[in-house]
Amino acid sequence: MLTISDLVVRYPKANENALDRINVTINKGEFVCVLGKSGAGKSTFIRSINRLQQPTSGQILWNDVDITTLSEAKMRNVRSDIVMIFQHFNLIPRMTVFQNTLTGSFGRRSPYKNILGLFSEEEKERALKALQEVELEKHIDKRVEALSGGQKQRVGIARALLQDPKMLLGDEPVASLDPSTSRRIFEILKRIHEERELLSIINIHDVNLAKEFATRIIALRDGQLIFDGQPEEVDERMFADIYQ
Ligand code: ADP
Ligand code: MG
Repeated sequence: MLTISDLVVRYPKANENALDRINVTINKGEFVCVLGKSGAGKSTFIRSINRLQQPTSGQILWNDVDITTLSEAKMRNVRSDIVMIFQHFNLIPRMTVFQNTLTGSFGRRSPYKNILGLFSEEEKERALKALQEVELEKHIDKRVEALSGGQKQRVGIARALLQDPKMLLGDEPVASLDPSTSRRIFEILKRIHEERELLSIINIHDVNLAKEFATRIIALRDGQLIFDGQPEEVDERMFADIYQ
């Protein structure tokens, strides 16, 4: 369970809070989509949860542990529960699909093994299985730079799966993809979410996709949480409110 209390983020020299006293509790099994126009605070919100962004004040409890005050060493354990997928994939273009996927196990191995690039048979098998889950097993030896955007994002998802996550975070993972590819990515994410019983929080600008896939929608505006409810409650009036 993720419990966020009075979360505030203020960037240096900013006049206003990027996140302004956010309170929300999210349970395992929930597939939450976060809506809000550009600048609303969506990325700051997601990045605070795995502490890519240090909160200014407030609490973030992950299974009763306050992650805002953990040392870097202890935070490493928590981070191995949490994976993030990004709009621009964050892959290594000249490496193959298989090699990129294997890098997902870096969080769980010793640094010297990472430097030597030694992967066990078990890690290789897990990478192959993850690539099957995202239906990319036919492309394992292709360089990532030769893939389409949707395929790249599927590598991003496979890499995330190698970490055996409990929480899946997405910062606009389909923002640079066309509508039908975006839908396909969401189908894969939702299937993985259900099979692995994850807690998922995904920023998205496409309200229709959010309404189709989310079990719960939250909306941010100017750093404040202005909506938290069921997808069907997001009607035209609410839409106008979120994007005004
Ligand atoms: P969104 O992802 O919804 O577009 P962000 O979380 O990126 O929103 O931004 C929220 C607010 O914080 C915006 O006003 C943005 O300009 C500001 N902001 C974001 N990142 C930084 C940063 N690194 N330094 C200063 N201000 C930032
Ligand atoms: Mg953003």
